[in-house]
Amino acid sequence: MRRGTGNTDTRSSAETSRTTGFDEITILWISEGMSCDGDSVAMTASDRPSIEDIVLGLVPGLPKVNLYNKVLSPTVGGEEFLAPYRMAARGEMAEPFILVIEGSIPNEKINGDGYWSSFGNDEITGEPLTLNWWIDHLAPKAWAVMAVGTCATYGGIHAMAGNPTGCMGLADYLGWDFRSWGGLPIINVPGCPIQPENFMETLTWVLYHAAGSAPPPPLDSMLRPQWLFGKTVHEGCDRGSYFEQGDFAQDYNSPKCQVKIGCWGPVVNCNVPKRGWMGGIGGCPNVGGICIGCTMPGFPDKFMPFMDAPPGSSLSSMLIKPYGVFIRRMRGFTNVTTNKEPKWHHNRPILTSGYDPRWRPGVTPAQVR
Ligand code: SF4
Ligand code: SF4
Ligand code: SF4
Repeated sequence: MRRGTGNTDTRSSAETSRTTGFDEITILWISEGMSCDGDSVAMTASDRPSIEDIVLGLVPGLPKVNLYNKVLSPTVGGEEFLAPYRMAARGEMAEPFILVIEGSIPNEKINGDGYWSSFGNDEITGEPLTLNWWIDHLAPKAWAVMAVGTCATYGGIHAMAGNPTGCMGLADYLGWDFRSWGGLPIINVPGCPIQPENFMETLTWVLYHAAGSAPPPPLDSMLRPQWLFGKTVHEGCDRGSYFEQGDFAQDYNSPKCQVKIGCWGPVVNCNVPKRGWMGGIGGCPNVGGICIGCTMPGFPDKFMPFMDAPPGSSLSSMLIKPYGVFIRRMRGFTNVTTNKEPKWHHNRPILTSGYDPRWRPGVTPAQVR
């Protein structure tokens, strides 16, 4: 676990000994890693809750939240924007803060000089301050640390084989056993980009924990929220019944299961097909997109080449085919039957079902034809 050095934390001992029960908290969001800012943009699509709900204090029971994010900042950048980050790095921020990292982390210590990204300049030397510098100085002082998007969680696209930058995810950089000042492990919310509500729901849980009214969010072994990433894409896919019936798409214009044309859904942890992308609408395979495993630690290398059938799909589709063809045919027969009205639905006075119409006095079962 890395520790920042040479900084003084000016909080009182009472403040530093308390790890929850805060009425104000700051979010310092840095997207100066190898990032496209797509996660900041995606976050704005959330409406349960929205980021506006959080910063305007409209969610009952949450601490007051001060958000600093360059994509959403009303400032024009420069020193005004950097001020809270510099204050936190000096250990002078009065309230606790959550450090959010977006983008993978290049590292000169691996691949040599020149492979870095920066966020502002050193106030004395004017030299660029690398993302590594900020993480080294902020992470040990942060009440909680979150990685948003697959680049920040596991390296993502920038960290694929052959990348020259030596970049990596936050847990690889800080260490998987890192614990924040609030006693929390890094909280990973992967996705390329994040599903908007996945991040906002996790942040809301973290904020309730900061307020002292919820336990820490439960995480899996890859530090993902368990309740969001515990099921596979396949388990929530609209096309699952086609798979079960052995009915597979041969091209991208088909509504059938896409496993033979590159969908990795059966082995990918992601709730997007169930949750949708925006306002409950969309969700990769639901709307014709193959799942390429963008939430996964092995993304993208283990899912390439995209659009090729996954290796296991040949076996699974071969095994399901005989069952699927048989059961589809049997269901077809039943479907024809159930598409006809019962024969006793007619406008004649006598039922044809043999059912004793007790409510009609004077009619006996023998009279029913
Ligand atoms: Fe952009 Fe995807 Fe990386 Fe997020 S995870 S910064 S959306 S490339
Ligand atoms: Fe599973 Fe993908 Fe087929 Fe959906 S399209 S049922 S996720 S294999
Ligand atoms: Fe990524 Fe697959 Fe989830 Fe779509 S369904 S968001 S491609 S992991």
